[in-house]
Amino acid sequence: MALEETDLKIEKSVFGTTSNGEQVDKYVLKNQNGMEVAVITYGGIITSWTAADKEGVYKDVVLGLDSLSDYENGSPYFGAIIGRYGNRIANGKFELEGKEYDLAKNNAPNHLHGGDKGFDKVIWQAQEIDEGDSHKLKLTYLSKDGDEGYPGNLNTTVTYTLTPEDELKVKYEATTDKTTIVNLTQHSYFNLSADFDNSIVDQKVMINADRFLPVNETLIPTGELRNVEGTPFDFRNLKPIKADINTENEQIKRGGGYDHCWVLNNQKDGVRLAASAYDPGSGRLLEVFTDEPGIQLYTGNFLDGTLPQKGGAGNYEKRSGFCLETQHYPDSPNQPEFPSTDLNPGETYTSQTSFKFSVK
Ligand code: BGC
Repeated sequence: MALEETDLKIEKSVFGTTSNGEQVDKYVLKNQNGMEVAVITYGGIITSWTAADKEGVYKDVVLGLDSLSDYENGSPYFGAIIGRYGNRIANGKFELEGKEYDLAKNNAPNHLHGGDKGFDKVIWQAQEIDEGDSHKLKLTYLSKDGDEGYPGNLNTTVTYTLTPEDELKVKYEATTDKTTIVNLTQHSYFNLSADFDNSIVDQKVMINADRFLPVNETLIPTGELRNVEGTPFDFRNLKPIKADINTENEQIKRGGGYDHCWVLNNQKDGVRLAASAYDPGSGRLLEVFTDEPGIQLYTGNFLDGTLPQKGGAGNYEKRSGFCLETQHYPDSPNQPEFPSTDLNPGETYTSQTSFKFSVK
């Protein structure tokens, strides 16, 4: 049933209290079709997100946890904003303007997703903005100079906008007072069947990329941009995730499945279609648009059946969710051939990604 114009709003409630006694709020963005996106101020985490199937029934399609303590006690970045640097930095080290910086090696021997207390574990300030028929939640966070070893006071804004087209736009902005590095992303795990007992390997993916970045044993890009043709990494046409995921292939073996960054085509075009995912059973289609040069497809290889599903059903088994993380390439600060992730004082870092749902 279509909602009345007056029902369109952002609902706010208390989600929980952190172990340090800080209050965490939950905002639910709703559109006129029935899409609902719940965001908490801890990590800017999207805890649930409904999308319509071919019968028009909206159901939750993202992995998440029931309580704040579950998130605090160890979530594999479910639904979170990732910063200051999404993905890995080799050996937790990089050099900037002749100075070496040391970061947490929280994914030994490398640095992953911003360190021990990245943007996924901090409390963001939230502001609701109603703009016609779009609803925005603006999240801001000041990461202090030296936070997790990164230089510069980084003022960060992430704005989630839910549109009447069942599209969630994510806009990232940041400024600094010292030269630093930035690479922000969103870490939702999708299962388009809306049944978290189903493996995502039956779902299909398309990635608009002729090349991908092969990795070494610790998942750091080797520097090669390899053609996808004739490899399990060819997703130029929608293909079931399971088609090649068990192929005898060194790169698949290193990732334990797909855990790689693709070099997106048409990098000069600004925001363009980067990837799509389709669940034949439910008919749900997800399209991901971005202005970023890369996208990481992670097929939930490290999920191991220990984390409980929302609502106390089963547990999240291996491959019960996939991530499509738009970003600059991993380890860019150490790989001068890659597009730069440097940010200087006076510049504004901006990045845009949108996730659009429909049925097919
Ligand atoms: C990484 C995986 C990692 C996961 C977090 C992904 O972005 O590529 O290697 O395990 O995040 O759990």
